[in-house]
Amino acid sequence: MTENRIGKGLSFAKRIYLPRIVGLAIGLLSVLAAIYPLDLPGWVWALLFFNGLAWPHLAYRLSSRAREPYQAERRNLIYDSLLGGFWAATMQFNPLPTVTILSMMAMNNVAAGGHRLLVQGLLAQGTGMLVSITLLGPGLELNATPLQIYACLPMLTLYPLAVGSVCYGLAIKLSEHKRTLRALSLTDSLTGLLNHGSWKDLLHLKFHKCRQERCEAVIAVIDIDHFKQINDSYGHIVGDCVLRQLSAELKRNLRENDLAGRYGGDEFCVILPYSTLSQAIEIMERLRQSISNYRNEQLPELRVSLSIGLASCRNEFADPAAWLNEADKALYAAKNSGRDKVNFAPADPVRFAVAYPE
Ligand code: GH3
Ligand code: MG
Repeated sequence: MTENRIGKGLSFAKRIYLPRIVGLAIGLLSVLAAIYPLDLPGWVWALLFFNGLAWPHLAYRLSSRAREPYQAERRNLIYDSLLGGFWAATMQFNPLPTVTILSMMAMNNVAAGGHRLLVQGLLAQGTGMLVSITLLGPGLELNATPLQIYACLPMLTLYPLAVGSVCYGLAIKLSEHKRTLRALSLTDSLTGLLNHGSWKDLLHLKFHKCRQERCEAVIAVIDIDHFKQINDSYGHIVGDCVLRQLSAELKRNLRENDLAGRYGGDEFCVILPYSTLSQAIEIMERLRQSISNYRNEQLPELRVSLSIGLASCRNEFADPAAWLNEADKALYAAKNSGRDKVNFAPADPVRFAVAYPE
């Protein structure tokens, strides 16, 4: 049994604890009113008070201390049903309290364990009825007094409220988990930036938006120079630390609408919407410089530099891949001309050469 399964079983037991306390306490009222006129032995009364007031706490202790809390809690639900059936027959099937108690238990079972637990619960209810008939004899009382009807009202109103609020709490938790999982599926776990897939999806969107709105946008492809050597000389933990440092600098230097992702390995990519090439160059120059100024106290000789390729979105690109390819070419030109620099696509300087800070 894994820690995870124990945790899930415990939260299942915790979730049922409060509704069981409420349900059995108010169920006690319905049964009390129904069996009060009957001449029953003392042990039946003792069992009723035990079931209504003490059993919820004992059940929680049993499940929370069990090796498999989930299985123990399912057993407890079966005991609930067994006792429910016992009380139905003991009340001589007085219609309102019988239907109230048995249907609330069925609701509980189907909510907690689906149709399988529902069927097991129904079988347990039948067994409970047989036990009562065997021990106390059969009986049928089809007329309910006004007191017996009123005694069922708290169960009919409060218990569905308790179960409803537990279900609502679960639904909220589920949607939170869904949001967290979605965020995780879009994020690179090492750097917290967008991962390859989600960045490419956004590239698609931004490319088409840019076309429609005829606005300017630039993409930047950033690669750490000689990163393999950093790994080889200082180890992968330092390498990871450099990757995280670069992502932190990216977040610090970019504008709110810029979209930074980790393309893979030591390669990062950014979409800079509504940006001219000269603005993008300025931002990337700042990033390049802040990374070249990075110093690690434990490794004073460690130096990191970046090569960055930029491409603005041009009309002749047939698809986002062509745009990305252009930025890639600019990056490799930067690599081939000495690294540690920001370079832009060959077709761009025609329009933006003036803006490039030499
Ligand atoms: P260049 O200047 O030409 O870019 O050389 P480079 O050494 O940076 O290029 P190369 O692509 O050969 O090396 C990238 C290295 O990044 C290789 C791989 O071991 C390393 N790497 C990829 N992912 C991770 C990671 O998550 N953590 C660490 N520490 N290293 C990684
Ligand atoms: Mg590299």
